[in-house]
Amino acid sequence: MIDHVNTGLHRQVPQVKGQIKLRRSSQISYLGSVRFFKHLIIGVVLVMLILPWMAMTGVYSRAEPADPDIAGQLGELARQQEALLQELEDYKSENRLLLQELDKARVLYDFDSPYSQLHPELRVSGPQEYIDSTKVIYLTFDDGPGVNTRAVLKILDKYNIKATFFVVGYAIEGREELLRQIVEEGHTIGIHSYSHVYKEIYNSVEGFLDDFAKVSNKIEEVTGIKADIFRFPGGSVNSFNEGWGNTIISEMLSRGYRYYDWNVGSSDVAADATAGSIYNAVINQAHSHSYSVVLLHDGGGSKARTVEALPQIIEKLLSEGYSFDKMTNQVKPTVFNTGSYSRG
Ligand code: ZN
Repeated sequence: MIDHVNTGLHRQVPQVKGQIKLRRSSQISYLGSVRFFKHLIIGVVLVMLILPWMAMTGVYSRAEPADPDIAGQLGELARQQEALLQELEDYKSENRLLLQELDKARVLYDFDSPYSQLHPELRVSGPQEYIDSTKVIYLTFDDGPGVNTRAVLKILDKYNIKATFFVVGYAIEGREELLRQIVEEGHTIGIHSYSHVYKEIYNSVEGFLDDFAKVSNKIEEVTGIKADIFRFPGGSVNSFNEGWGNTIISEMLSRGYRYYDWNVGSSDVAADATAGSIYNAVINQAHSHSYSVVLLHDGGGSKARTVEALPQIIEKLLSEGYSFDKMTNQVKPTVFNTGSYSRG
């Protein structure tokens, strides 16, 4: 092939002259020269080296690293991440336990409250845990001892069931024997109020504590029992305690007391209540709760219709498999949220 090229070019040589002839001669001498072959060989060698290198780097930049060291390092990082996440979970649950301990400490030592110097005797042990109250009916009688207490006790005794009495301090005066009878027959005494005068007890934390101490001391003096559960007059959410309600609640909780609103209202003190309306209200509402805290009255505005309705309520619910019990601070509190209140 080289011979052929040379031959062709040599054939043209006689037809050109001067500079052109010289230039063509220099081209001919390069193409056929040793230098040309050197350059050709170097070029081919370079191409042979560069192409595989480009191919390799191109492939590796897109693929997973095949290096076992890198895979090992990634595995190690994943393990470290897992260990850190586990540590975080441990830390969180430790933190929860610490917060629970802190809550208990607050109840025991009350180190946050500005009211801790007031009535330091008002302090009880809170519950360690709450019991399972499924299908239990807690009958509660407010505002006594009063006109119906004796009749109520007789009915409870007949059916051999226990109940709870949230008593009023001023009503105990002159009825001390009745209060002792409640305790002797195995029922629970809870605190309601001494005066039951909303404007006095909800005017300030001090006012509430003064009233509470008065009734608590009276109960202890008469029965020897220090009550540790209570019910706010009017319930925990009412139109009189908007100003101090939450402060009073946290003060009482920090002193170990538990309070109970109700989830079954009987409206037994309503002007138009009858034994039938009381019965229907209690039965219908009891069916919609896993456990019921029933509001009834044995004092205050209580009337004979409450006593009249009571045996039918007990018999009906017993026949449906419910049981009756008295409250303790281990019953999970039934507490109003907001807005719903009626006379307690
Ligand atoms: Zn009341």
